[in-house]
Amino acid sequence: MHDVDFDFDFFVIGAGSGGVRAARTAAALGARTAIAEQRFFGGTCVNVGCIPKKLYTYAAQFAHQWRDAKAYGWVTDELPAFDWQILKDNKDKEIKRLNGIYQSILGSAGVTIIEGRAELTGPNSLRVGNNHITARHILIATGGKPSLPDVPGIELAINSDGFFELTEQPKRAMVVGGGYIATELAGVFAGLGSEVHLVHRGNILLGDFDHEIAGFVTDAIQSYCKVYLKTQIIKIEKNIKSKEIDADLLVTLDDGRQVPVDTVLFATGRTANTSNLGLEALGVKLDDSGAVQVNEFYESSVPGIYAVGDVINRVTLTPVALAEGQLLARRLFGQSAESKRSAFSYDLIASAVFSDPQLATVGLTQSQALAQYPGLKVYKSKFRPLKHTLTGAAEFTLMKMLVDPVTDRVVGVHMAGTDAAEIVQGMAVALQAGATKADFDATLGIHPTAAEEFVTMRTPVAD
Ligand code: NDP
Repeated sequence: MHDVDFDFDFFVIGAGSGGVRAARTAAALGARTAIAEQRFFGGTCVNVGCIPKKLYTYAAQFAHQWRDAKAYGWVTDELPAFDWQILKDNKDKEIKRLNGIYQSILGSAGVTIIEGRAELTGPNSLRVGNNHITARHILIATGGKPSLPDVPGIELAINSDGFFELTEQPKRAMVVGGGYIATELAGVFAGLGSEVHLVHRGNILLGDFDHEIAGFVTDAIQSYCKVYLKTQIIKIEKNIKSKEIDADLLVTLDDGRQVPVDTVLFATGRTANTSNLGLEALGVKLDDSGAVQVNEFYESSVPGIYAVGDVINRVTLTPVALAEGQLLARRLFGQSAESKRSAFSYDLIASAVFSDPQLATVGLTQSQALAQYPGLKVYKSKFRPLKHTLTGAAEFTLMKMLVDPVTDRVVGVHMAGTDAAEIVQGMAVALQAGATKADFDATLGIHPTAAEEFVTMRTPVAD
């Protein structure tokens, strides 16, 4: 038995979105709180996810803006040169700044920061390096990591973490997967000028979203990427055979085609970080994917051990991890009856894919809504944004609104096109408030905008 070096009310493993929010909330409520982090403060979102990804998508959009500027009188002879290294350096500086901010936020909230890998030694005890720690409550907020299939040559490929470390822009890039990360990073590579090959085993990209919207985005992506649907990778080799093409790698697809590229990026999902934490030895139940199983209050199968965020693999989005972490901390240390009682509702979580074009959504897809609401009313608008009346670019926007015919409540809003994420955030408030189609009809538009289409949809489409 070791002497105990520290004792806390609440010990959080992992300083990502969910862990930091839980730790700050607990400390503010008076709990003696500590957090352990072994890699980077801010977790996936800040370091190798949402934030750097969004910065890269801004970089990619400049190509469109230069193209469009001509029709507005900006005389440009050619596209200016893009320098990948400048973007990466500036991104790295910003992420370093954010890491510091996360540490100082925790410090000023009164949270003890311990850098290093934590491992559970008992239901109320753990070890970080040589420190032996006890805690009344322990939160697992260790997030997830990219998961790559076991294909020959996979060691030659990169994942999304590797994408943010690339120091040179690949001339030809292959992206594997058809979800959030694959479509977003394919759009970034293409916008910045790489030739992009997007390989997906399904018959549509973003197939978990409303199918019509996903089909619209798939078509749009096909206009600037070579998209291989219903296709799998058989092997990746160093490119020795295809010498006439100066590419580093040669990828063989399941239809026998061989594609020379410089980089292969797998975006084939993520798995929970639960290995080597000592969870199994304590009897903490994991699901088949390795995620921690928790109840509605984020309690694991072992009393005193909790989990939130990507490590529970419920809805792996930053705002969800924040909400889960906050709810748990309030429940454990809050005084009000309300903080003890409430569970978090997973209905009506808005989300966006920062693909090109963007896709954003809240509520049910059309097929989900049809199953629940017979006679569902579907309102739609497809149009060329005003900006492109001058540019002539073949870029369109698609919006959909789904309405329960009995209550008139809006049960789903979907959009693909410019600013979809910004627009749908407001729609999410309306749906959260239980808005009816009549409420939307009674709302005046802001003219001229794309968003006003959502309040001017008058006639349901026959389906
Ligand atoms: P997704 O679950 O979105 O997509 C994974 C894709 O990989 C799917 O198209 C899946 O195909 C495919 N796939 C899975 N396994 C294999 C395999 N063995 N071989 C070939 N293809 C495979 O995961 P991502 O990795 O894109 O992102 C992880 C999560 O991170 C997202 O689900 C999301 O929650 C979050 N995220 C959110 C973002 C945002 O909010 N904008 C941005 C980026 C990530 P199939 O559909 O056939 O299973």
